[in-house]
Amino acid sequence: MRVAVVGAGIMGASAALALADRGHQVTIYDRHPPGHDRGSSHGRSRIVRAAYPDPFFTEIMVEGHPMWRDLQDRIGHQIEGGLLHEVGLILFGRPDSAMVADTIRSLRDLDVPHEVVPGDRARDQWGLEIRSEEVAVLTPEAGWVHAANAVAGTIDLAMQQGAIFIQEAADPRALIGQFDRVVACVGAWAREMFGVDATVTCQTVAYVDLGRSWRGPVYIEDSPDFVYGFPGERGSTTVKVGVHTPGLLIDPHKETRPQNDAMIERILQFARERFGVENPEIDEVVTCLYTNTADEDFRWGEDDGVIWASPCSGHGFKFGPWIGARLADFAEGKRSPADWPRFNRR
Ligand SMILES: Cc1cc2nc3c(=O)[nH]c(=O)nc-3n(C[C@H](O)[C@H](O)[C@H](O)COP(=O)(O)OP(=O)(O)OC[C@H]3O[C@@H](n4cnc5c(N)ncnc54)[C@H](O)[C@@H]3O)c2cc1C
Repeated sequence: MRVAVVGAGIMGASAALALADRGHQVTIYDRHPPGHDRGSSHGRSRIVRAAYPDPFFTEIMVEGHPMWRDLQDRIGHQIEGGLLHEVGLILFGRPDSAMVADTIRSLRDLDVPHEVVPGDRARDQWGLEIRSEEVAVLTPEAGWVHAANAVAGTIDLAMQQGAIFIQEAADPRALIGQFDRVVACVGAWAREMFGVDATVTCQTVAYVDLGRSWRGPVYIEDSPDFVYGFPGERGSTTVKVGVHTPGLLIDPHKETRPQNDAMIERILQFARERFGVENPEIDEVVTCLYTNTADEDFRWGEDDGVIWASPCSGHGFKFGPWIGARLADFAEGKRSPADWPRFNRR
C-alpha cells in the first residue's frame, strides 16, 4: 500500500516505521524538519513506565515496554546519548493515597515486577528526602527514553526501509486519492483538524543544578501538581524536573513558547525539599506544547478516510511504538479504532 503519514513527532514517526516494517511505501510529511522544537516530542528525556493507577494504561505498557526494548536493540547502541535508559522508576507518596494504592494494585494484578520500599529505606537508598510516612513504589523495568533520538532514529529506520520524508505542511484529507491510506498524527493541531476536545498549554521543564551528581531512578512525587524528574547524566550535576499541572493556554501556531515562572518556582521548591539543596540554580529551561484531554485518555478515530491519533495529554510519548503499531493495524484493516472505545472519541 502507498500510505501518507502527516506529522513526524513520536506518533507519526512510530506509525511510519510500523508501516515501513510491514512492507508499505510510506511518505512522511511534516511542516518542520525532524527533531524540531515546535511540537511535543523534542528534548532529551521522556518517562517510560507501566506504573499507572489505571490498569488500562499499565496493560498497554506491558505490551509497549518490550517495543522500546526492540527499538533499543535496533538503534539504541548506535546513537550518541542512547535510546532506552532502564534506570527504574519510583513513584513516592503516602501509601493510603489513591495514586499510590491504585498503582500498587495495577502492578500486582498485571504481574509487573515492583517493590514497595518504606520511606526511610528509600531515603537512604536513593538520597531523596522521602518521608517516613511515605513509601516508594519501585518498578525496575522502567526509566526514560531519549526523546530526540527516538524520533530521529525511528524516522531514519523507516527511511532505511524506503520511506520518504517531505518537509511541508499537508492537509490529510487532500491526500486521499493520491495514497491508499492516510494517517495523521498532528499532535496539538488535532484540536483544530479533527475537533478533539483538548486544551493546548505551554509547559516548562528545567534542568536544576544540585551542585553534586545524582544518579538514581526516574522519580514521580504524588502531589497535586505531580512533580517528576530524571537522574543526572554522566558527568553532570543537573537533573531535569517538570510539573504535570498544565501551564497557560497557547495557540500552537504561535512561534513563541513563553516560560512559566510559577512552574520554575515549583521545580526549585522540589529541589530544595526533596534533594535537600539549599540554593538550587536553574541551568536550562525548556518549553513544550502539552495537549491534554480532561480525562487524560488519548484520542483516535477515522474521519473521511483519514486515520488520526493524538496522544493528547502529557503522558503519551512512552506509548509511541504501541500507538504506531495500532495505526498500522488500522491502515491494514486488521483492527479498528473502535476496538478501543476509550480512545475512539473526540
Ligand atoms: C514537557 C513535556 C513533558 C512530557 N513528559 C512525558 C513523559 O515523561 N513521558 C511521556 O510518555 N510523555 C511525556 N510527554 C508527552 C509526549 O511528549 C507527547 O504526548 C508526545 O510527544 C506527542 O507526540 P505527537 O507525535 O502526538 O505530537 P508532536 O510531537 O507535536 O508531533 C506532531 C507533528 O505534527 C506536525 N504537523 C502538525 N500539523 C501538520 C500539518 N498540517 N502538516 C505537516 N505536519 C504537521 C508538527 O509539526 C509536529 O511535528 C511530555 C510532553 C511535554 C510537553
